Amino acid sequence: MKLTYKLTLAFLLISLLAIGLAALFIQGRIASEFNRYLEGQQQNNFVLAVRSYYNENNTFNGVDTYLRENQLLPPLNELNPPPQPYVLVDSKRVVIVASAPYVIGEKVKQGEIDKGIPIESNGEAVGTVISTGQPLARKPLDQKYIDQINQALWIAAFGGMLIALLLGLLIARSLTRPIRELTHATHKMAQGKLEQEIPVRSQDELGELAQAFNQMSADLTKANLARKQMTADIAHDLRNPLTVVSGYLESLQDGKLKSTPERFAIMQMEVQHLQHLVEDLRMLSLADSGELRLHLEPIAPAELLESVASAYRHQAEVQKIQLKIETDANLSTVNLDSERMEQVIGNLISNALRYTPEGGEILLSAKQFPGSLILGVADTGIGISPDILLHIFERSYRGDSSRSGTESGLGLAIAKSIVELQGGNIKAEQRAEQGSKFLIAIPIQ
Ligand code: ADP
Repeated sequence: MKLTYKLTLAFLLISLLAIGLAALFIQGRIASEFNRYLEGQQQNNFVLAVRSYYNENNTFNGVDTYLRENQLLPPLNELNPPPQPYVLVDSKRVVIVASAPYVIGEKVKQGEIDKGIPIESNGEAVGTVISTGQPLARKPLDQKYIDQINQALWIAAFGGMLIALLLGLLIARSLTRPIRELTHATHKMAQGKLEQEIPVRSQDELGELAQAFNQMSADLTKANLARKQMTADIAHDLRNPLTVVSGYLESLQDGKLKSTPERFAIMQMEVQHLQHLVEDLRMLSLADSGELRLHLEPIAPAELLESVASAYRHQAEVQKIQLKIETDANLSTVNLDSERMEQVIGNLISNALRYTPEGGEILLSAKQFPGSLILGVADTGIGISPDILLHIFERSYRGDSSRSGTESGLGLAIAKSIVELQGGNIKAEQRAEQGSKFLIAIPIQ
């Protein structure tokens, strides 16, 4: 059964119970209040009649006939007289007009007289009217009045239930609407249409669900786009060197070109680039699948920086760039995988060398803060614009997309994975003076 119907049924059952109980209660209450009203009126009539009779006749003799004439007592010949709950007692506490369980001539206790209504004539107590507490029989007209009220009550209850049913249906539909929209959008996503947006209609849990769904859809769309872009970039990056190498090989084979050391060097460079790219991809997929094994050992940060710098010193000299190291004294050792960290910092230095012009400077630094060690690679190069900064650690992101260089665009993504696997994090910033700065924070236990 549909959730809408289930909810409607639940609303209906609850309202049925509530309206039914209320109607029963009101019906009972009306009956008892109406009886009380009738009894009060009847008692009043009885007392008034008895009093006026005494005032006129100075005695209660013959009062029963008078009451019968006024229909305040049932006629004598009636077979099944309706109950008449009033008893008249004279000043000597003797019953004059009786009703069960009292009988005429019976003497009544003072306690009962006290509960009754005294009849006075010229300021003197001449008798008492006592109520037996027996319920009055309703007259046909009174009964008709009560029946009509009850009928109206049940019609109102039925109307209330119809309204509850309609409202329940409306509320259930509006409650399940976001769920229907979500299901519809989910089906579409399953069919491959990842970009879905459902309206957020409320600030409650369903609204939160819709928001989370929209976020998920946006993230998936973005990730899907990035994956497509990366595949295209990689295909492009693989094709270029392969075209160069196969072109050379063909020409060499045909004898159109002579094999010279320079041509082999070019081919070797392209093959190296391919190897590099394949290695980067392997690293990323290892990091993704959590299979990148780390060999953590205590290493001294200053030594780590020195060791990487020495590998790039020659290239820096060739490019006339100064490669400097600045470290705090007494740095504590940190548990790191030295080979992987050398790879990360090496990548940052090689980027810095690529984007820094002649006469520039690259500064490697290590600073200790409470709880963490910050390794920095700063350059005086072209710097990174804010919109590029946002995406710089994404896979296959190149700041300058027109550049057809030998870079894979995976270097920083790999660096981020490796740093994060070791519990640290990496960020990039634009330096105030000039150039860019990469900071790696490693927690110290
Ligand atoms: P690539 O292999 O293409 O260099 P990276 O992931 O290492 O890929 O870098 C991504 C992009 O970040 C680069 O294309 C470049 O635009 C930018 N970038 C990286 N390092 C620097 C730097 N030191 N100065 C300026 N831009 C940089």
